[in-house]
Amino acid sequence: MERQRPILDTPIEYVKGVGPAKGELLRKELGVHTIGDLLFQFPFRYVDRTVIYPIKDVPADGDNVQIKGVLLSLDKVKGKNGRHRLTGVLKDGSGFIDLVWFAGIGVLEKILMVGATYVAFGKVINFNGAKSMTHPEMDNDSEIYGQSPKTFEPQYSSTENLISRGVDNRFRRKIIRSVLEVITDRDLPEIIPEYISSKMKFCKRIEALNWIHIPEDLLSKNKAADYIKFEEIFVFQIRMLQSKIARTKRHQSPALKSIGDAFNEFYFKRLTFSLTDAQKKVIKEIRIDLSKNVQMNRLLQGDVGSGKTIVALLCMLIVKDNGFQSCIMAPTEILAQQHYASISEALGENSNIKVAFLSGSVKNKARSIILEELASGATDIIIGTHALIEPTVKFHNLGLTIVDEQHRFGVAQRAAIWQKGQHLMPHVLVMTATPIPRTLAMTIYGDLDVSVIDELPPGRKEIKTMHFYDSGRPRLIEFLHKEIANGRQVYIVYPLIEESEKLDLQSLQNGYEQLLTYFPPPQFQISVVHGRMKAADKDWEMQRFIKKETQIMVATTVIEVGVNVPNASVMVIENTERFGLSQLHQLRGRVGRGAKQSYCILMSDYKISKEGKERIHTMVRTNNGFEIAEADLKQRGPGDLQGTQQSGILDFRLLNIGKDSAIIETARQIAMRIIDRDPQLEMDVHYQLKLHMMDVHRRQKDWGRIS
Ligand code: ADP
Ligand code: MG
Repeated sequence: MERQRPILDTPIEYVKGVGPAKGELLRKELGVHTIGDLLFQFPFRYVDRTVIYPIKDVPADGDNVQIKGVLLSLDKVKGKNGRHRLTGVLKDGSGFIDLVWFAGIGVLEKILMVGATYVAFGKVINFNGAKSMTHPEMDNDSEIYGQSPKTFEPQYSSTENLISRGVDNRFRRKIIRSVLEVITDRDLPEIIPEYISSKMKFCKRIEALNWIHIPEDLLSKNKAADYIKFEEIFVFQIRMLQSKIARTKRHQSPALKSIGDAFNEFYFKRLTFSLTDAQKKVIKEIRIDLSKNVQMNRLLQGDVGSGKTIVALLCMLIVKDNGFQSCIMAPTEILAQQHYASISEALGENSNIKVAFLSGSVKNKARSIILEELASGATDIIIGTHALIEPTVKFHNLGLTIVDEQHRFGVAQRAAIWQKGQHLMPHVLVMTATPIPRTLAMTIYGDLDVSVIDELPPGRKEIKTMHFYDSGRPRLIEFLHKEIANGRQVYIVYPLIEESEKLDLQSLQNGYEQLLTYFPPPQFQISVVHGRMKAADKDWEMQRFIKKETQIMVATTVIEVGVNVPNASVMVIENTERFGLSQLHQLRGRVGRGAKQSYCILMSDYKISKEGKERIHTMVRTNNGFEIAEADLKQRGPGDLQGTQQSGILDFRLLNIGKDSAIIETARQIAMRIIDRDPQLEMDVHYQLKLHMMDVHRRQKDWGRIS
């Protein structure tokens, strides 16, 4: 096929003024290989150069600002380190400010004239109580207004290396300008079908690119941004929907239509509580999926304690009623064991359902028996860790794979368990306790169906959440004594961040030693668990806590996932400010599992950031996981949300998933309508879109399955 975009594919060094050396720099530092790359890296902000601050009011908050005044003096000064710097003083009607340059002194000395009026543009810093502007760009006042007036000036992200070698904002603006001069709408065909863009009143694609880089005013900049955001998410959604179609074509799964003894016996005779409406609704959704010969690919979201396990079990019983096997894969040994224990217990001793357990620690004879029974079909349900995806594990006929706490698994692992079906692919249910806001779920799981358990079983007591500063520690200790005296158990969690692992272990160690003085043995017993311990030691400590041999568990975040100790009713989190919201919510979910009132106590220093305070307030204010996830998304953006980093697919340039939910929603609706009407994009009106999708596909070949 004829190449579609010769100009956009032109290597960057051929742009006027770039050349091989700077081209190499742009490639290495910014990943800009072609003209297209250059044009599609957008400014991260704009500086309103119509605003000029009076010197006495100029903010020193890290933003580039503009001031205007007479240059009173200019001096070359030799610093203590022997290097020269250039200093000047600028005066306006309101006051004076120092200007400082450390580089390019020779040129500046020649150009700048004492006594002339300049517009200085740069960052103001506060140094020893005096404000100064470092490395300002200086424009002679008369020059500026001789040219077109500056309004919104784009700022591009850059690196030290680029700036020192002349590839600064000015340079970027210059080369982008020269490229935009030669690009026409033939190089940038409209990919959004005409009947949509006219209805949405979008600007043209070429206009969007022009206005995003060289906005005439705020209005045109916003119009450009609206279009670009829409295009980003629209293309993404089309890709999702197409891949969903491709997948359902590719993967045939068994149609599991029957409901029989396994399900009915359990549901009507053994289940001791009635399901919540949310659980019933979700089971119904899954049942419909299972009954089709198209592979189910469903995400089940439910806050901690919402009762996902029982839903999983009921689904596996349906699978059994159709003569197929199921498996549950959990991210840790402890969690897998707990699933095994609770499912075996729920089924009861006299059940006809054969449940097995497999993890790395199941070895030798025991292991080979399990593998045999699995392969022969004697086993109905197997629960385990990633050991389940090893090649030696063969199923007789796997009908359903359930993956618990999906964010702990990599994409490849999830794909591997799919391959375990024989002729047919197993249906897939991914369970997660990390609530994902609706907009995000729609975005990243666009090709998954989503079920939500949005209701907790009745009778749960809200966990009481409190915030103590370090000065409140005596009160905390007193409180813990009271709870322990009443037979409760306590978690105390310390943060663990990779880079400062040593330091964190130290704080855990110190905390532990301090606790020993408040809770001395032998009356009190304390378990310690952290990530550096061997799995077996960790397990042993956990088991002691589960068996109530210890009253306190001091831990790093290893307990975040899994452990279910209903008797533990207090969660103390140290250095709360260092945890993210989702993580805090997960930790809090470790308590509140029994009938007794539970507490979550957030400890922090006095000095914490504004964001840290906000997180603590959110935690104190609400127990609702979805609310917390929304707050998290707003504060941090999706990049940090659990489960999204590994996917590496949320690299939108302008679209903000937290803020642009209206655009996302609209784009999704439109994309669905298009794909419904024209799944292969064969209609004439979709021709350019089809070409574009092929191009996207070519560039991201292994985008493949993200679920
Ligand atoms: P999670 O969604 O966090 O995995 P679990 O499945 O572990 O939650 O359920 C938490 C507890 O709630 C379990 O002890 C379970 O037996 C109980 N449970 C689940 N559903 C109900 C219900 N409808 N009514 C009462 N208790 C329930
Ligand atoms: Mg669970």
